[in-house]
Amino acid sequence: MARGTFTGGIHPYEGKELSKDKPIKIVMPKGELVYPVSQHIGAPAKPVVRVGDHVLTGQMIAEAGGFVSAPIFATVSGTVKAIEPRRLATGAMCNSIIVENDEKYEEVEFKPMKPYEEMTAQDKIDAVRNAGVVGMGGAGFPTAVKFSPKEPDRIDYVIANCSECEPYLTSDYRRMIEEPELLLEGLKIAVSIFPNARGILAIEDNKPDAIAKFTELTKDEDKISVKAVKTKYPEGAERMLIYACTGREINSSMLPADAGCIVDNVDTLCAVCRAVKEGRPLMERIVTITGEAVENPQNYKVRIGTNYRELLEDAGLKSEPAKIISGGPMMGFAVFDLDVPTTKTASALTCLSSDEVSALEPSACINCARCVEVCPERLVPKNLADAVEHNDEKTFLAMYGMECCECGCCSFICPARRQLTQLIKGMRKIQLGKRKK
Ligand code: SF4
Ligand code: SF4
Repeated sequence: MARGTFTGGIHPYEGKELSKDKPIKIVMPKGELVYPVSQHIGAPAKPVVRVGDHVLTGQMIAEAGGFVSAPIFATVSGTVKAIEPRRLATGAMCNSIIVENDEKYEEVEFKPMKPYEEMTAQDKIDAVRNAGVVGMGGAGFPTAVKFSPKEPDRIDYVIANCSECEPYLTSDYRRMIEEPELLLEGLKIAVSIFPNARGILAIEDNKPDAIAKFTELTKDEDKISVKAVKTKYPEGAERMLIYACTGREINSSMLPADAGCIVDNVDTLCAVCRAVKEGRPLMERIVTITGEAVENPQNYKVRIGTNYRELLEDAGLKSEPAKIISGGPMMGFAVFDLDVPTTKTASALTCLSSDEVSALEPSACINCARCVEVCPERLVPKNLADAVEHNDEKTFLAMYGMECCECGCCSFICPARRQLTQLIKGMRKIQLGKRKK
């Protein structure tokens, strides 16, 4: 099987051996559940419950705040204790619905669904929208909007992003190994929304057992195939994956649909399957708790709203972490307060020990060009960072700084330890803010 790939990229220490062989463990929430109204890209959801209301598991507690938005559901039964700003893993405050868990887990009656083969494309999109499904790989883009491109008949490929290229993370891998039928059904449903689409399961070749499993499961499928992609970071970034699977290129001003592609992550497709076949809303996700500082690195099935601290307490710490990251070390962000909720987009908590956190100070650029060699967007990170340091927006834009996908490869490889990605990311944020205005 020919392996797909892209130019550039890096091979960081994988760290996946810590948790990859740990079966998914169900963890039940102990304390209150916190549901921020912004767990997705787009308008915040609007609370439809009041303080003192009794809610059931699976009950909508906040409705979508617009077309690009998503509803939020209670993941336990209990009482609405408060609606107030609470801190997110990013450190930002967000209006949140707080539910006191009564530990009875009484569920609403989910609406029975027709077999998806008898549903129209719009029925399936509506089911995904009503279930509050969003991109669970981190972006949080509402999946129903992604499934509604202007020209659905021009979608040629739905790609299941099974690469999980981020170091340490193993939640997608465990889903693939333990619930492959759920993922495959989700992909088949997504493919069935588009009249001319085929499905691709894009799996990095460091997961040969997952490749073998899906090759066997899809041997009689005429519209679904498995594509082994080279193990290299950031293989799972949307633009790189589309190129590796189809040879098609997109830039920052295009959507994957402009290249005839839809890309969805593993957990998202599992949630699509539940939404369309069972009418069940998005209420849980798989989260990896890992890192050298963790006693028992694990993959957990977690109810959205569960406190991060409870997950870390279950896994245990063997040493004081030097750094705790929400997500993986390449694309994640440092967490300074563990009393924050698991959201729809929270994939992992990585606790690094001091040995893994470099304390080296940045020094002057030695013009080695390594950052250029690894940049998957074919940019010149060194020059972009220089432009940012000189506050030279014009040069930054002229050198295509907005094409940066913030993968972190340049910072990782730089022998001078320059904070290249951070500088470029900062300027991109400013420019994106200006575009919005
Ligand atoms: S410039 Fe951007 S895209 Fe290129 S390596 Fe650095 S972070 Fe990645
Ligand atoms: S990798 Fe670092 S030292 Fe080398 S050219 Fe790029 S910025 Fe300069």
